[in-house]
Amino acid sequence: MAKKKVKPKKPSERWKKYKVSGNKVERQKTCPKCGPGMFLGAHKDRVTCGNCHYTEFLKK
Ligand SMILES: [Zn+2]
Repeated sequence: MAKKKVKPKKPSERWKKYKVSGNKVERQKTCPKCGPGMFLGAHKDRVTCGNCHYTEFLKK
């Protein structure tokens, strides 16, 4: 029996665009209160939302 080669599924274009559109998206957190459109400002030991002042402390 010949083995069938399984072609890996290509990631959706939408996902690709999302990753390309912003390199910081993966690293930068978004505000859970304001939604995915609002990024948290990065500080030395915490991230803060400039809109609603939501603060999240980073764990080491
Ligand atoms: Zn916010």
